[in-house]
Amino acid sequence: MALYDKPAHVLHEMLAKKEISSVELTEDVLARMDKVEKSIGAYITVTRDDALRTAEETDKKISSGEEISFLEGIPCGIKDNICTNGIKTTCASKILENFVPPYDATVITKLKQEKPVIIGKTNLDEFAMGGSTENSAFHATHNPWNIDCVPGGSSGGSAAAVASGSAIWALGSDTGGSIRQPASFCGVVGMKPTYGRVSRYGLVAYASSLDQIGPITRDVTDCANILNIISGHDDMDSTSSAADVPDYTKSLVADVKGLKIGMPKEYFIDGIDEDINNAVRKAIDELKAMGADVKEISLPHTAYAIATYYLIAPAEAATNLERYDGVSYGERVDGADVVDMMKNTRTQKFGDEVKRRIMIGNYALSAGYYDAYYLKALKVRTLIQRDYTEAFKDVDVIACPTAPTPAYKIGEMIDDPLKMYLQDVCTVPLNLAGLPGISVPCGYSSNGMPIGLQIIGRPLGEETVIRAAYAYEQSQNFHNDMAKIGGVDA
Ligand code: GLN
Repeated sequence: MALYDKPAHVLHEMLAKKEISSVELTEDVLARMDKVEKSIGAYITVTRDDALRTAEETDKKISSGEEISFLEGIPCGIKDNICTNGIKTTCASKILENFVPPYDATVITKLKQEKPVIIGKTNLDEFAMGGSTENSAFHATHNPWNIDCVPGGSSGGSAAAVASGSAIWALGSDTGGSIRQPASFCGVVGMKPTYGRVSRYGLVAYASSLDQIGPITRDVTDCANILNIISGHDDMDSTSSAADVPDYTKSLVADVKGLKIGMPKEYFIDGIDEDINNAVRKAIDELKAMGADVKEISLPHTAYAIATYYLIAPAEAATNLERYDGVSYGERVDGADVVDMMKNTRTQKFGDEVKRRIMIGNYALSAGYYDAYYLKALKVRTLIQRDYTEAFKDVDVIACPTAPTPAYKIGEMIDDPLKMYLQDVCTVPLNLAGLPGISVPCGYSSNGMPIGLQIIGRPLGEETVIRAAYAYEQSQNFHNDMAKIGGVDA
């Protein structure tokens, strides 16, 4: 019996009932990885020995009759921009190629109390800048549903690992869609929590006012359980919320009667892929048939979200990435003097997209342009936030597509950054407003690629988002579908 294709909550029950051992499960996932990694390339680092050692500890615990926690003994992948003590954390960049953090990110500290089996660090666009995982300095990741296609990004390695069975679940990070969009491209569930819900301490900073860590899972049940574990205030992150963490699994009730759902007309834009339009509308109709109250709403400043995001995120990135100078951080490339050394280091070790954003960011922040670009973007950000505040006076959640197209071919957009940026139209507004959002599978395009339904909630409204997503998921069967990997499963 294959184990790699099951969600964590099913495997947890099997472990607790001693039907399987954690070593058996870990070996099954590692064997699957051995089979698929050549085609998929989801990982940068695989921690095979540590994984098996942790699995053995879980098995000892189980056989001694001790109870195990939800994630205990279950293999997972961690996006390689989340610091793991003693395990390389590269951000898919040559500048951090050999960086071994001397500490754990808070999410990892929290996870380790649960003793999951960390089997590796997953691929991403360099420093999480991108939407296809093609910007990794090491290798591209392929979509398990069609290996000629991108898995989305920047958490493409995490989503592809979960979709291909080389991890049961994974952590990603989302600054402008990097959890939700790859989840939608790979047919899995991905959630970006409210800004501040999960500590950012130990997440390598891209754009600090937007970054959030969140789970990528097979289903909404796993998502709720993992959110319970990773959420909460952290003294090490002053932007983390002091609000209590509710038990998100209480929202796993398949009931949306009376739930008010808004359909923002600006998200069903001209140019949206026909299959996406149909699948998402059908999903919303399904929620309506289950008793939800659906109405059209307007978020009038949506059209400015991309421009706003692509000023604020690069501005913050330019500042955050100053530290990679070959002195404080970064693989040093020598030079004639210190300035030459820094120039060589940054020129040779950063990839093109990272350099592009550092230049855009510094331009937008420079004297003379600050008011015209950066300050203006901050003002528009407030208008975008207000759109949501207004909308949430009338509705409980907002439902729309996660991405305007399904996964596209590797290489198709990489030479056209602007076209790639426009892909983020449905995801970046939430980050600008700090809101929680989930992507849940809702069908397939005519060429068989997965489509995601995005559900957006009020600040700290994760419970309602999970409730709506779970009710929809349970009315369908998409979460039980597993990708057939060309050349491996076919
Ligand atoms: N695609 C977006 C970007 O390129 C989002 C990235 C992210 O969320 N990390 O910035």
